[in-house]
Amino acid sequence: MSATELRTCKECGKTKPIEDFCKLRRWYTHQCKECYNAIHRLYSKQWHERNPTKRKEYKYRWKNKDPIHFKMTQDEGMKRLVKNMPDCYIRSLIIWGTKLKPSDIPIELVGLKRAELTLKREAKRLFNNG
Ligand SMILES: [Zn+2]
Repeated sequence: MSATELRTCKECGKTKPIEDFCKLRRWYTHQCKECYNAIHRLYSKQWHERNPTKRKEYKYRWKNKDPIHFKMTQDEGMKRLVKNMPDCYIRSLIIWGTKLKPSDIPIELVGLKRAELTLKREAKRLFNNG
């Protein structure tokens, strides 16, 4: 029953045992825990922006605790998330400020939200570059 099931992370592309993925209600995330956590840090970033003191404190603590990982998520991880817009990232944007869970969001809504983001980015790009 518990033969190690493998799964490939959509985010980093690494194949890892299923235990390295988060379980959301009945199914596992498409991202490994590491990537999934990075997404949730992005999610909580908005909260920290509204709480600058705590943010500073938290950031400082985390930076000291795990400097390599800290740097990675600050640079590549975040950029990649924003650029690739994986489902879980989109879901986290939709549920932001609500009591919903990522698994509550139907895939249709994810598609719409991604389209919205793409539209906004494209508009921004066009207007900024003339
Ligand atoms: Zn991953």
